[in-house]
Amino acid sequence: MQLGIRSELSGSETRVAATPVSVTALIDLGFDVDIEAGAGAVAGFTDAAYVNAGANVVPTVEAGRLDVLLCVGPPTAVALETVTNGGVVVGFLDPGANADIIDHMQSRGIRAVAMENIPRSTLAQSMDALSSQATAAGYAAVLLGAGELPKFMPMLVTAAGTVPPAKVLVLGVGVAGLQAIATARRLGAVVHAYDIRPETKEQVESLGAKFVEAPTQQMDEGGYARAVDEETAAQQRAILSDVVAESDLVITTAQVPGRQAPRLIDMTMVQRMASGSLIIDMAASSGGNVEGSRPDETVIVDGVRILGPSDLAARVAMDASRMYARNLLEVVSRMVVDGNLVVDGEDAVVGPALVGGPETPDATPPRDQGEDT
Ligand code: NAD
Repeated sequence: MQLGIRSELSGSETRVAATPVSVTALIDLGFDVDIEAGAGAVAGFTDAAYVNAGANVVPTVEAGRLDVLLCVGPPTAVALETVTNGGVVVGFLDPGANADIIDHMQSRGIRAVAMENIPRSTLAQSMDALSSQATAAGYAAVLLGAGELPKFMPMLVTAAGTVPPAKVLVLGVGVAGLQAIATARRLGAVVHAYDIRPETKEQVESLGAKFVEAPTQQMDEGGYARAVDEETAAQQRAILSDVVAESDLVITTAQVPGRQAPRLIDMTMVQRMASGSLIIDMAASSGGNVEGSRPDETVIVDGVRILGPSDLAARVAMDASRMYARNLLEVVSRMVVDGNLVVDGEDAVVGPALVGGPETPDATPPRDQGEDT
Protein backbone atom coordinates (compact mmCIF):
# COMPACT_ATOMS: atom_id res chain seq x y z
CA MET A 1 0.00 0.00 0.00
CA GLN A 2 1.45 3.34 -1.08
CA LEU A 3 0.71 6.50 0.89
CA GLY A 4 1.90 9.99 0.16
CA ILE A 5 2.08 13.55 1.41
CA ARG A 6 2.61 16.49 -0.90
CA SER A 7 4.06 19.82 0.14
CA GLU A 8 1.19 22.24 0.74
CA LEU A 9 3.35 25.18 1.75
CA SER A 10 1.85 28.40 0.48
CA GLY A 11 1.59 31.98 1.70
CA SER A 12 -0.32 31.07 4.84
CA GLU A 13 -0.31 27.26 4.95
CA THR A 14 2.63 26.05 6.99
CA ARG A 15 1.23 22.77 8.28
CA VAL A 16 1.98 19.28 7.00
CA ALA A 17 -0.24 16.18 7.05
CA ALA A 18 2.38 13.80 8.48
CA THR A 19 5.20 14.10 11.00
CA PRO A 20 8.17 11.76 11.36
CA VAL A 21 6.35 10.10 14.28
CA SER A 22 3.17 9.51 12.26
CA VAL A 23 5.23 8.28 9.29
CA THR A 24 6.75 5.53 11.45
CA ALA A 25 3.29 4.51 12.63
CA LEU A 26 1.96 4.52 9.04
CA ILE A 27 4.84 2.26 7.98
CA ASP A 28 4.00 -0.06 10.90
CA LEU A 29 0.48 -0.26 9.50
CA GLY A 30 1.93 -1.60 6.24
CA PHE A 31 2.29 1.54 4.12
CA ASP A 32 5.22 2.60 2.01
CA VAL A 33 5.35 6.40 2.53
CA ASP A 34 6.41 9.06 0.00
CA ILE A 35 6.76 12.65 1.17
CA GLU A 36 7.76 15.58 -0.95
CA ALA A 37 11.03 17.28 -0.06
CA GLY A 38 10.52 20.29 2.17
CA ALA A 39 6.89 19.46 2.99
CA GLY A 40 7.49 19.76 6.74
CA ALA A 41 10.23 22.39 6.62
CA VAL A 42 8.23 25.34 7.93
CA ALA A 43 6.62 23.24 10.65
CA GLY A 44 10.10 22.22 11.83
CA PHE A 45 10.24 18.67 10.42
CA THR A 46 13.31 18.16 8.25
CA ASP A 47 13.64 15.84 5.27
CA ALA A 48 16.33 13.99 7.23
CA ALA A 49 13.88 13.34 10.07
CA TYR A 50 11.36 11.87 7.61
CA VAL A 51 14.10 9.68 6.07
CA ASN A 52 15.08 8.48 9.56
CA ALA A 53 11.42 7.66 10.17
CA GLY A 54 11.45 5.43 7.08
CA ALA A 55 9.82 7.67 4.45
CA ASN A 56 10.96 8.10 0.86
CA VAL A 57 11.64 11.81 0.46
CA VAL A 58 10.97 12.60 -3.21
CA PRO A 59 11.14 15.81 -5.26
CA THR A 60 7.53 15.25 -6.41
CA VAL A 61 5.20 12.32 -5.91
CA GLU A 62 4.78 10.45 -9.22
CA ALA A 63 1.45 10.45 -11.04
CA GLY A 64 -0.86 7.51 -10.34
CA ARG A 65 1.30 6.23 -7.49
CA LEU A 66 -0.72 6.65 -4.31
CA ASP A 67 -3.39 4.46 -2.76
CA VAL A 68 -3.77 7.09 -0.04
CA LEU A 69 -3.07 10.83 -0.22
CA LEU A 70 -3.05 12.68 3.11
CA CYS A 71 -3.54 16.42 2.93
CA VAL A 72 -4.22 19.49 5.06
CA GLY A 73 -6.44 21.44 2.67
CA PRO A 74 -8.42 20.32 -0.41
CA PRO A 75 -6.17 18.73 -3.08
CA THR A 76 -5.44 20.55 -6.31
CA ALA A 77 -6.00 18.85 -9.66
CA VAL A 78 -2.22 18.28 -9.81
CA ALA A 79 -2.26 16.62 -6.38
CA LEU A 80 -5.08 14.31 -7.48
CA GLU A 81 -2.95 13.07 -10.37
CA THR A 82 -0.74 11.33 -7.81
CA VAL A 83 -3.68 9.20 -6.64
CA THR A 84 -4.50 5.93 -8.32
CA ASN A 85 -8.05 5.39 -9.61
CA GLY A 86 -9.99 3.93 -6.69
CA GLY A 87 -7.56 5.44 -4.14
CA VAL A 88 -8.40 7.49 -1.04
CA VAL A 89 -7.85 11.15 -0.15
CA VAL A 90 -8.07 12.17 3.51
CA GLY A 91 -7.98 15.80 4.64
CA PHE A 92 -9.98 18.98 5.20
CA LEU A 93 -11.78 18.86 1.84
CA ASP A 94 -14.40 21.58 2.41
CA PRO A 95 -16.80 19.59 0.21
CA GLY A 96 -19.48 22.28 0.14
CA ALA A 97 -17.10 24.72 -1.55
CA ASN A 98 -15.27 22.22 -3.75
CA ALA A 99 -17.90 20.42 -5.79
CA ASP A 100 -15.60 20.32 -8.84
CA ILE A 101 -12.82 18.56 -6.93
CA ILE A 102 -15.27 16.09 -5.40
CA ASP A 103 -16.81 15.41 -8.84
CA HIS A 104 -13.36 14.82 -10.29
CA MET A 105 -12.58 12.33 -7.52
CA GLN A 106 -15.88 10.53 -7.97
CA SER A 107 -15.36 10.24 -11.73
CA ARG A 108 -12.13 8.36 -10.99
CA GLY A 109 -13.52 6.27 -8.15
CA ILE A 110 -11.34 8.10 -5.62
CA ARG A 111 -12.90 7.99 -2.15
CA ALA A 112 -12.91 11.36 -0.34
CA VAL A 113 -12.73 11.34 3.47
CA ALA A 114 -13.49 14.84 4.76
CA MET A 115 -11.94 15.42 8.19
CA GLU A 116 -14.48 18.16 8.95
CA ASN A 117 -17.23 15.51 8.76
CA ILE A 118 -15.69 13.11 11.29
CA PRO A 119 -18.35 12.71 14.02
CA ARG A 120 -17.75 14.69 17.24
CA SER A 121 -18.30 11.49 19.25
CA THR A 122 -16.41 9.86 22.11
CA LEU A 123 -15.40 7.05 19.75
CA ALA A 124 -13.89 9.50 17.28
CA GLN A 125 -12.27 11.92 19.74
CA SER A 126 -8.73 11.04 18.65
CA MET A 127 -9.75 11.78 15.04
CA ASP A 128 -11.49 15.10 15.73
CA ALA A 129 -9.35 17.42 13.62
CA LEU A 130 -11.85 20.28 13.92
CA SER A 131 -11.14 20.28 17.65
CA SER A 132 -7.38 19.87 17.39
CA GLN A 133 -7.04 22.73 14.93
CA ALA A 134 -9.53 24.93 16.81
CA THR A 135 -7.40 24.41 19.93
CA ALA A 136 -4.34 25.64 18.05
CA ALA A 137 -6.28 28.55 16.55
CA GLY A 138 -7.76 29.71 19.87
CA TYR A 139 -4.32 29.73 21.45
CA ALA A 140 -2.75 31.54 18.49
CA ALA A 141 -5.50 34.17 18.47
CA VAL A 142 -4.61 35.27 22.00
CA LEU A 143 -0.90 35.40 21.24
CA LEU A 144 -1.62 37.43 18.11
CA GLY A 145 -3.74 39.78 20.18
CA ALA A 146 -1.14 40.04 22.95
CA GLY A 147 1.51 40.88 20.36
CA GLU A 148 -0.58 43.49 18.60
CA LEU A 149 -2.03 45.15 21.71
CA PRO A 150 -0.12 48.25 22.84
CA LYS A 151 -0.57 47.08 26.43
CA PHE A 152 0.64 44.44 28.89
CA MET A 153 -1.68 41.50 29.43
CA PRO A 154 -0.93 40.97 33.18
CA MET A 155 -1.15 43.48 35.98
CA LEU A 156 2.27 44.88 36.77
CA VAL A 157 3.29 46.65 39.97
CA THR A 158 6.48 48.54 39.20
CA ALA A 159 8.47 51.52 40.47
CA ALA A 160 7.11 53.38 37.45
CA GLY A 161 3.57 52.76 38.57
CA THR A 162 0.91 50.07 38.62
CA VAL A 163 -0.32 48.81 35.27
CA PRO A 164 -3.82 47.29 35.28
CA PRO A 165 -4.35 43.95 33.53
CA ALA A 166 -5.72 43.91 30.00
CA LYS A 167 -9.43 43.18 29.66
CA VAL A 168 -10.16 40.37 27.22
CA LEU A 169 -13.62 39.36 25.98
CA VAL A 170 -14.15 35.99 24.25
CA LEU A 171 -17.41 35.54 22.34
CA GLY A 172 -18.25 31.94 21.45
CA VAL A 173 -17.06 29.32 23.91
CA GLY A 174 -16.58 26.21 21.78
CA VAL A 175 -13.21 24.52 21.45
CA ALA A 176 -11.36 27.60 20.17
CA GLY A 177 -13.05 29.92 22.67
CA LEU A 178 -12.18 27.73 25.65
CA GLN A 179 -8.54 27.63 24.59
CA ALA A 180 -8.55 31.41 24.07
CA ILE A 181 -9.95 31.96 27.57
CA ALA A 182 -7.38 29.61 29.13
CA THR A 183 -4.51 31.25 27.24
CA ALA A 184 -5.58 34.81 28.10
CA ARG A 185 -5.94 33.82 31.75
CA ARG A 186 -2.44 32.29 31.74
CA LEU A 187 -1.13 35.62 30.46
CA GLY A 188 -2.79 37.36 33.38
CA ALA A 189 -5.64 39.16 31.62
CA VAL A 190 -9.05 39.73 33.17
CA VAL A 191 -11.33 37.65 30.94
CA HIS A 192 -15.07 37.84 30.24
CA ALA A 193 -16.78 35.36 27.93
CA TYR A 194 -20.19 34.61 26.49
CA ASP A 195 -21.82 31.86 24.46
CA ILE A 196 -25.42 31.24 23.43
CA ARG A 197 -25.27 27.71 24.96
CA PRO A 198 -26.11 27.94 28.70
CA GLU A 199 -23.83 25.06 29.75
CA THR A 200 -20.78 27.12 28.80
CA LYS A 201 -21.26 29.38 31.87
CA GLU A 202 -19.82 26.71 34.15
CA GLN A 203 -16.95 26.02 31.73
CA VAL A 204 -16.12 29.74 31.55
CA GLU A 205 -16.14 30.10 35.34
CA SER A 206 -14.01 26.98 35.82
CA LEU A 207 -11.29 28.72 33.78
CA GLY A 208 -11.37 31.75 36.06
CA ALA A 209 -13.27 33.99 33.65
CA LYS A 210 -16.59 35.81 34.14
CA PHE A 211 -19.66 34.83 32.12
CA VAL A 212 -21.56 37.69 30.50
CA GLU A 213 -25.24 37.23 31.34
CA ALA A 214 -26.79 37.74 27.90
CA PRO A 215 -29.59 35.49 26.52
CA THR A 216 -28.83 31.79 26.10
CA GLN A 217 -30.72 28.99 24.40
CA GLN A 218 -30.51 25.20 24.25
CA MET A 219 -28.39 23.63 21.54
CA ASP A 220 -29.75 21.56 18.65
CA GLU A 221 -29.93 17.75 18.73
CA GLY A 222 -26.41 17.59 17.27
CA GLY A 223 -24.97 19.54 20.21
CA TYR A 224 -24.33 22.71 18.22
CA ALA A 225 -25.73 26.22 18.67
CA ARG A 226 -28.84 27.13 16.67
CA ALA A 227 -29.25 30.41 14.84
CA VAL A 228 -30.99 33.03 17.01
CA ASP A 229 -33.89 35.23 15.89
CA GLU A 230 -33.30 38.96 15.34
CA GLU A 231 -34.97 39.92 18.65
CA THR A 232 -32.59 37.67 20.63
CA ALA A 233 -29.65 38.93 18.59
CA ALA A 234 -30.61 42.53 19.41
CA GLN A 235 -30.83 41.66 23.14
CA GLN A 236 -27.41 40.04 22.92
CA ARG A 237 -25.89 43.10 21.31
CA ALA A 238 -27.47 45.45 23.85
CA ILE A 239 -25.96 43.51 26.77
CA LEU A 240 -22.62 42.86 25.09
CA SER A 241 -22.24 46.48 24.05
CA ASP A 242 -21.00 47.73 27.45
CA VAL A 243 -18.60 44.80 27.91
CA VAL A 244 -17.21 45.25 24.40
CA ALA A 245 -16.75 49.00 25.01
CA GLU A 246 -14.61 48.29 28.10
CA SER A 247 -12.48 45.53 26.52
CA ASP A 248 -8.93 45.95 25.25
CA LEU A 249 -9.02 42.75 23.20
CA VAL A 250 -12.13 41.01 21.86
CA ILE A 251 -11.82 37.55 20.28
CA THR A 252 -14.90 36.22 18.48
CA THR A 253 -15.28 32.55 17.56
CA ALA A 254 -19.07 32.08 17.16
CA GLN A 255 -20.25 29.71 14.43
CA VAL A 256 -23.50 27.99 13.57
CA PRO A 257 -22.94 24.91 11.35
CA GLY A 258 -24.20 25.32 7.80
CA ARG A 259 -25.04 29.02 8.33
CA GLN A 260 -23.24 32.33 8.09
CA ALA A 261 -21.50 33.19 11.33
CA PRO A 262 -23.79 35.19 13.66
CA ARG A 263 -23.22 38.96 13.81
CA LEU A 264 -22.40 39.71 17.46
CA ILE A 265 -20.69 43.09 17.18
CA ASP A 266 -22.05 45.92 15.05
CA MET A 267 -20.35 49.15 14.04
CA THR A 268 -21.92 51.15 16.90
CA MET A 269 -20.31 48.76 19.37
CA VAL A 270 -16.93 49.00 17.63
CA GLN A 271 -17.13 52.80 17.78
CA ARG A 272 -17.64 52.67 21.55
CA MET A 273 -14.27 50.90 22.05
CA ALA A 274 -11.20 52.89 23.05
CA SER A 275 -8.64 53.80 20.43
CA GLY A 276 -5.82 51.22 20.49
CA SER A 277 -8.08 48.30 21.30
CA LEU A 278 -8.26 45.27 19.09
CA ILE A 279 -10.83 42.78 17.77
CA ILE A 280 -9.83 39.39 16.33
CA ASP A 281 -12.73 37.93 14.34
CA MET A 282 -12.00 34.21 14.00
CA ALA A 283 -15.21 33.84 11.99
CA ALA A 284 -14.23 36.45 9.37
CA SER A 285 -13.95 33.81 6.62
CA SER A 286 -17.44 32.46 7.27
CA GLY A 287 -19.36 35.74 7.26
CA GLY A 288 -17.89 37.45 10.30
CA ASN A 289 -19.05 37.97 13.89
CA VAL A 290 -18.02 41.62 13.59
CA GLU A 291 -19.44 44.20 11.22
CA GLY A 292 -16.71 45.41 8.91
CA SER A 293 -14.27 42.53 9.43
CA ARG A 294 -12.64 41.13 6.31
CA PRO A 295 -10.79 37.80 5.93
CA ASP A 296 -7.03 38.20 6.30
CA GLU A 297 -7.23 41.99 6.43
CA THR A 298 -6.89 44.62 9.11
CA VAL A 299 -9.71 47.15 9.15
CA ILE A 300 -9.28 50.27 11.31
CA VAL A 301 -12.35 52.05 12.71
CA ASP A 302 -11.66 55.14 14.86
CA GLY A 303 -8.35 53.68 16.06
CA VAL A 304 -9.83 50.23 16.76
CA ARG A 305 -8.22 47.49 14.69
CA ILE A 306 -10.35 44.57 13.45
CA LEU A 307 -8.33 41.55 12.31
CA GLY A 308 -9.79 38.58 10.42
CA PRO A 309 -6.96 36.01 10.30
CA SER A 310 -7.70 32.65 8.67
CA ASP A 311 -4.26 31.16 9.28
CA LEU A 312 -4.27 30.95 13.07
CA ALA A 313 -3.68 27.19 13.43
CA ALA A 314 -0.87 27.45 10.87
CA ARG A 315 0.87 29.99 13.15
CA VAL A 316 1.65 27.12 15.53
CA ALA A 317 2.52 24.83 12.64
CA MET A 318 4.60 22.28 14.52
CA ASP A 319 2.09 21.38 17.21
CA ALA A 320 -0.93 21.89 14.95
CA SER A 321 0.69 19.46 12.46
CA ARG A 322 1.49 16.98 15.23
CA MET A 323 -2.13 16.95 16.38
CA TYR A 324 -3.52 16.84 12.86
CA ALA A 325 -1.12 14.08 11.76
CA ARG A 326 -2.25 12.06 14.79
CA ASN A 327 -5.92 12.62 13.82
CA LEU A 328 -5.16 11.42 10.26
CA LEU A 329 -3.18 8.41 11.48
CA GLU A 330 -6.13 7.28 13.61
CA VAL A 331 -8.52 7.62 10.66
CA VAL A 332 -6.17 5.70 8.34
CA SER A 333 -5.74 3.00 11.01
CA ARG A 334 -9.49 2.37 10.89
CA MET A 335 -9.20 1.81 7.16
CA VAL A 336 -6.53 -0.90 7.39
CA VAL A 337 -7.86 -4.41 7.98
CA ASP A 338 -5.41 -7.33 8.00
CA GLY A 339 -2.88 -5.27 6.08
CA ASN A 340 -5.38 -4.23 3.39
CA LEU A 341 -6.99 -0.86 2.70
CA VAL A 342 -10.73 -1.14 3.34
CA VAL A 343 -12.89 1.98 3.09
CA ASP A 344 -16.05 0.90 4.89
CA GLY A 345 -19.02 3.19 4.30
CA GLU A 346 -20.77 1.54 7.25
CA ASP A 347 -17.97 2.39 9.68
CA ALA A 348 -19.22 4.67 12.49
CA VAL A 349 -16.38 7.14 11.96
CA VAL A 350 -15.27 6.84 8.33
CA GLY A 351 -18.83 6.40 6.96
CA PRO A 352 -20.13 9.86 7.91
CA ALA A 353 -16.90 11.47 6.67
CA LEU A 354 -17.05 9.82 3.24
CA VAL A 355 -18.18 12.42 0.75
CA GLY A 356 -20.68 10.81 -1.58
CA GLY A 357 -20.82 7.89 0.86
CA PRO A 358 -23.89 6.69 2.75
CA GLU A 359 -24.25 10.03 4.55
CA THR A 360 -24.77 13.38 2.83
CA PRO A 361 -21.48 15.30 2.53
CA ASP A 362 -22.58 18.48 4.23
CA ALA A 363 -24.54 16.85 7.05
CA THR A 364 -23.75 18.19 10.52
CA PRO A 365 -21.79 15.42 12.20
CA PRO A 366 -23.59 13.92 15.20
CA ARG A 367 -21.98 14.13 18.60
CA ASP A 368 -22.45 12.44 21.91
CA GLN A 369 -24.38 14.62 24.34
CA GLY A 370 -22.34 15.58 27.40
CA GLU A 371 -19.13 14.20 25.98
CA ASP A 372 -17.32 17.43 25.29
CA THR A 373 -13.60 17.35 25.19
P1 NAD B 1 -18.36 26.05 16.62
O1 NAD B 1 -17.04 26.38 16.01
O2 NAD B 1 -19.43 25.44 15.77
O3 NAD B 1 -18.96 27.39 17.31
C1 NAD B 1 -18.21 28.10 18.27
C2 NAD B 1 -19.11 28.55 19.38
O4 NAD B 1 -19.98 29.58 18.92
C3 NAD B 1 -20.03 27.47 19.94
O5 NAD B 1 -19.71 27.25 21.29
C4 NAD B 1 -21.42 28.06 19.75
O6 NAD B 1 -22.30 27.71 20.80
C5 NAD B 1 -21.13 29.54 19.70
N1 NAD B 1 -22.21 30.37 19.13
C6 NAD B 1 -22.96 30.13 18.04
N2 NAD B 1 -23.87 31.11 17.85
C7 NAD B 1 -23.68 32.01 18.86
C8 NAD B 1 -24.29 33.24 19.20
N3 NAD B 1 -25.29 33.76 18.48
N4 NAD B 1 -23.85 33.89 20.29
C9 NAD B 1 -22.84 33.37 21.02
N5 NAD B 1 -22.20 32.22 20.75
C10 NAD B 1 -22.63 31.53 19.67
O7 NAD B 1 -18.15 25.14 17.91
P2 NAD B 1 -17.12 23.97 18.17
O8 NAD B 1 -15.99 24.52 18.94
O9 NAD B 1 -16.81 23.26 16.91
O10 NAD B 1 -17.99 23.05 19.10
C11 NAD B 1 -19.32 22.73 18.72
C12 NAD B 1 -19.96 21.86 19.75
O11 NAD B 1 -19.37 20.56 19.72
C13 NAD B 1 -19.83 22.39 21.12
O12 NAD B 1 -21.01 22.06 21.80
C14 NAD B 1 -18.67 21.60 21.67
O13 NAD B 1 -18.68 21.56 23.07
C15 NAD B 1 -18.95 20.26 21.04
N6 NAD B 1 -17.82 19.34 20.92
C16 NAD B 1 -18.00 18.04 21.33
C17 NAD B 1 -16.98 17.13 21.22
C18 NAD B 1 -17.16 15.71 21.67
O14 NAD B 1 -18.21 15.37 22.13
N7 NAD B 1 -16.18 14.86 21.55
C19 NAD B 1 -15.77 17.53 20.69
C20 NAD B 1 -15.62 18.85 20.26
C21 NAD B 1 -16.67 19.74 20.36
